Amino acid sequence: APRLILVLGDQLSETGASLRAADPGRDVVVMAEVMSEATYVRHHPQKIALVFAAMRKFAARLAAGGWRVAYARLDDPENAGSIPAELLRRADATGAREVIATRPGDWRLMAALEETPLRMRLLDDDRFICRPRDFAAWAKGRKNLRMEWFYREMRRRTGLLMEGDSPAGGRWNFDAENRKPPKAGLSFPQPPAFAPDATVRAVLDLVAQRFGAHFGELEPFTWPTDRDQALALLHHFLRHALPRFGDYQDAMVAGQPVMFHSLLSPALNLGLLSPLEVARAAEAEWRAGRAPLNAVEGFIRQIIGWREFIRGVWSLGGPGYLRRNALGHRRKLPAFYWGAPTRMRCLAEVVGQTRRRAYAHHIQRLMVAGNFALLAGVDPAEVHEWYLSVYADAFEWVEAPNTLGMSQFADGGVVASKPYVSSGAYIDRVSDYCRGCGYDVKAKTGPTACPFNLLYWYFLDRHRERFAANPRMGPIYRGWDRREEATRARILGEAEAFLARMEAGEEV
Ligand code: FAD
Ligand code: SF4
Repeated sequence: APRLILVLGDQLSETGASLRAADPGRDVVVMAEVMSEATYVRHHPQKIALVFAAMRKFAARLAAGGWRVAYARLDDPENAGSIPAELLRRADATGAREVIATRPGDWRLMAALEETPLRMRLLDDDRFICRPRDFAAWAKGRKNLRMEWFYREMRRRTGLLMEGDSPAGGRWNFDAENRKPPKAGLSFPQPPAFAPDATVRAVLDLVAQRFGAHFGELEPFTWPTDRDQALALLHHFLRHALPRFGDYQDAMVAGQPVMFHSLLSPALNLGLLSPLEVARAAEAEWRAGRAPLNAVEGFIRQIIGWREFIRGVWSLGGPGYLRRNALGHRRKLPAFYWGAPTRMRCLAEVVGQTRRRAYAHHIQRLMVAGNFALLAGVDPAEVHEWYLSVYADAFEWVEAPNTLGMSQFADGGVVASKPYVSSGAYIDRVSDYCRGCGYDVKAKTGPTACPFNLLYWYFLDRHRERFAANPRMGPIYRGWDRREEATRARILGEAEAFLARMEAGEEV
C-alpha cells in the first residue's frame, strides 16, 4: 500500500524531511486547504491567499516532477475540513495505513496529528540550522538564554563571516555602527511586486469570497508565491537594500513600510527559501565588496541568530509557553489595533500599513505595537492572537516567542533580558511619526502629553518589585524616585485616566 506524505502549507521545500523519506513511485503526497487552518485565528486575507497560492504552485511543481499529489482545494465539496480528517479521507481512498509527516511548527496541530488513528511517523523539520535537540543541549544548565552567545555558536558552526576561528572584521557584532535615525531626504528602493498570475488570481477570488470580513486588505497582493519569485525578491534585496540594511535597521518613516528591509520572512517561513542559502548569498555580497560588513553581519544575525534562537525557544517552551503571563496583564486589546481611529500617529501608521500589507518591520512590531500593548498591560494572549492573525509571516513557532517573549515579557525573561519598553522619546528619535501627531512627544503631562510618556512610568511603577533590581533598569528607577512626589502622582494619575478613557471606548 502507498503511504501518505503530509506536506503542510508552510513546508513547501522540495527537500523537506517528509518528501525525502518518501518513495515517489509508491507514496501519495497529501496537501489540503482546510477551513480549520484558515480560521483558528482570523488571519489577514493576504496571509491566507499567500499560503493557498504557494501550496497550489508547489503541488503543481511536485506533480510535474512525477509525484502523485492528492490536493484538496478549500471549495472542493469533498474537503473534510481539517488536516487529520483529510488524512483519514485519503487513507480510505488509497488504502494507506501510515503517514509520514514533518513536525509542524504549531503545538495545536502537533497534538491533532498525534491523535489520529493512523500510524504517524513524525520527522524533525531539518530546514533549520539548529535542531531542537541541539538547542536543548546548548540551553541546558544556562541560567539565562542569550541570543548573542547562541549566535556565535551558529557563526562557528556554519562558518559564516568567519576567518578561521575569528569573526570577520574582528568583531561578532557591528550594531554600534547600525541604528542611525532616518535622515531627511533619504530615498528607498522600491521592492518588487509580483503581479498575480492565474493561480494567484483564482485564490484571491476564493479568499475575497470566504474571508473578506477578516481584518486586512486583500489587494494589492504582491507577495512571492513560488521559489523563482522568492529568489527574485532575494536578489533584489541583495542588490538594492542590503548595503544600507544595517544603517537604518531601526528607523521608521511614515508612508515607508519597507525601507531597507528584505520582506523575505514569508518566503523563508513557507520554505520557498532556505535560511542558509539566504545567509550565504548575503555573505557573498560582502566578499565581493558590494555590501559593507556592518550591513551583512546585521542581516545574517537576524537569520542565523534571531530566527534560529526563536525557534529553539519555541521548541523548548512546549505548548505551555503560549499561556505564559509573567506580569499578570489582563487588559483587553484596544479597538485601534483592529483599525478603529486613534490620535496616536505611530500606532495609526503601523496598524494602517499592517492592514494594507500584512507587513510591518521589526521595530514597528516591537517598539510601537508591542511597546504600547506592554505599557498598557494588555493580556499577552490577546496580543499573541493579534500578531498571529495580522502578519503574512506569522506562524506559531516564530510569532509566539517574539510576541510573548521578546515583546511582552510574558515568559518572565527567557527571550529578553529586560522588557522592551520606551517613552515617546525613543519613537521620536528613530522615526518621523511624532511630527504631525495629535499628541506632543515633549509633553510629560497635561492633555497633549504623549501616552507613551505617561504609560512608561505607569508600567515601571507597577512592576517595580520585579525590575528595580535589574542592573540595567535600576538607574531608571533611581531617576524616577528623585522626582517630586507630586509630579510622580500626577503622571500616574494621568496614565490611569488615559487607560480608563481607552477602556471606555473613547478615541485616544
Ligand atoms: P528583515 O528585517 O529583512 O530581516 C531579515 C530576516 O531575519 C527576516 O525575514 C526574518 O526571517 C529574520 N528575523 C529577523 N528578526 C527576527 C526575529 N526576531 N525572529 C525571527 N526571525 C527574525 N517574524 C516572523 O517571521 N513571523 C512572525 O510572526 C513574527 N512576529 C513577530 C512579532 C513581534 C512582536 C516581533 C517584535 C517580531 C516578530 N517577528 C516575526 C520578527 C521580525 O519582526 C520579522 O521577521 C521581520 O520584521 C520580517 O520582515 P523582513 O523579512 O523584511 O525582515
Ligand atoms: Fe506616538 Fe507619542 Fe510620537 Fe504621537 S507623540 S507619534 S503617540 S510616540
